Amino acid sequence: MGLPADGTSELLIDGKLVPGSAGTFPTVNPATEEVLGVAADADAADMGGAIEAARRAFDDTSWSTDHAFRVRCIRQLRDALREHIEELRELTIAEVGAPLMLTAGAQLEGPVDDLAFSADTAENFAWNHDLADAAPQGIPTRRTVAREAVGVVGAITPWNFPHQINFAKLGPALAAGNTVVLKPAPDTPWCAAAVGRIALEHTDIPPGVLNIVTSSDHGVGALLAQDPRVDMVSFTGSTATGRAVMIDGAATIKKVFLELGGKSAFLVLDDADLGMAASISAFTAAMHAGQGCAITTRLVVPRARYDEAVEAAAATMGGIRAGDPTHKRTVCGPVISARQRDRIQGYLDLALDEGGRFACGGGRPADREAGFFIEPTVIAGLTNESRVAREEIFGPVLVVLAHDGDDDAVRIANDSPYGLSGTVYSGSDDRAQTVARRLRTGTVNVNGGVWYSADAPFGGYKQSGVGREMGVAGFEEYLETKLIATAIN
Ligand code: NAD
Repeated sequence: MGLPADGTSELLIDGKLVPGSAGTFPTVNPATEEVLGVAADADAADMGGAIEAARRAFDDTSWSTDHAFRVRCIRQLRDALREHIEELRELTIAEVGAPLMLTAGAQLEGPVDDLAFSADTAENFAWNHDLADAAPQGIPTRRTVAREAVGVVGAITPWNFPHQINFAKLGPALAAGNTVVLKPAPDTPWCAAAVGRIALEHTDIPPGVLNIVTSSDHGVGALLAQDPRVDMVSFTGSTATGRAVMIDGAATIKKVFLELGGKSAFLVLDDADLGMAASISAFTAAMHAGQGCAITTRLVVPRARYDEAVEAAAATMGGIRAGDPTHKRTVCGPVISARQRDRIQGYLDLALDEGGRFACGGGRPADREAGFFIEPTVIAGLTNESRVAREEIFGPVLVVLAHDGDDDAVRIANDSPYGLSGTVYSGSDDRAQTVARRLRTGTVNVNGGVWYSADAPFGGYKQSGVGREMGVAGFEEYLETKLIATAIN
């Protein structure tokens, strides 16, 4: 159930594992550049079949109304994934380049366990509730608010935390009574295909309820946003692609839920332990080679202590070697592909052109012959107006900026098209809280608090997204609201 024994993964369509009509495409280990094997390559007709199956399963079965059955299926899925966790771990490290230590948390085990939250939420949810009896327009009326599944959900996901993002969509979407077509990123098809096989072989999820369509062609994913048979698209990825999905969805006025990019700020106020805060910021920016949408990639420190902060960040980041993700101490593995590595290198070159300097790192590590590695890098000497400080780099790259007090720190943090996350460090929780409340972002860490958990809503302001994933808010994204008004005779 981990790496496919025959080196090939299939599509899951209408309860069957099938090959892709466009053949296959390779999946590559980003730490070694070895081709692991191939994945089924779907074409438009395959996607059409998956959408049709999901539509039928929604319209013609009791999936959307049998809450107890769905809860049981999701618990079966969680249990089966747990039984295969070691194979999934091997696959995740090989295909994603995820450091082993992260698979105990957000790269694998955390999201698998979090499926329990979706099942529990559905089990305890108030699917119907009555408003007070009233007499609108003089007619005595009993009014019931009914919550119902949206319908067919198209889920489109990226490669950086494939299980986390796939399960943060599949869990609530299925628990809420929707049927789903999942289109994972072309870089990580096996992570999703393995889930499809496990769901088919170890759960009672009926045919058509869960479909998984891997494809090398982004256009196949775009069909989910365009097709009138799909009621909702749940997308995680870059802001540019999110915009395209929103435009495609507009033709049928689809519900469009978006989790997009970020360029979050780590604010250190002048009463904080600067050395410790800068070091934590640097460590975080190097994790999983910086491939996290909510990673704080702008360290914003008091101007008077700028050099000290750069030194502390560089001491930490310079001590982290980009290395083999199978090793238990590796924090920073490879980036996903040669394309991403070259894109990050482009930003490093740009940093110098914009007048910045490297306090550590700045390129590809000399000691790695194969694999898509970038050295953890601290960039100093730039302002928040530089492109390197404004655009999402998605690599192990931290930009250190100077602020002139709390108001200026808030101004810099908010001077971004994004608004996904943020961090505030201060010697005073009250002062940090005051700053946190002024940040235009969906999550804020104050003095080391952890915002990531199954019951906590996650999402972005501004161009970082629309809607919330996880928590009860993330469950309710997948529901419609119906008001039933019955005349009282
Ligand atoms: P991407 O936008 O290139 O691709 C994401 C997915 O969209 C892939 O499955 C891709 O095949 C598909 N896709 C591409 N073009 C499409 C189109 N026109 N219509 C429909 N689908 C299309 O993103 P990526 O490079 O895979 O992932 C990195 C990005 O994801 C970063 O910007 C990162 O910040 C973001 N991200 C956001 C979150 C969040 O929760 N906010 C989480 C993880 C990653």
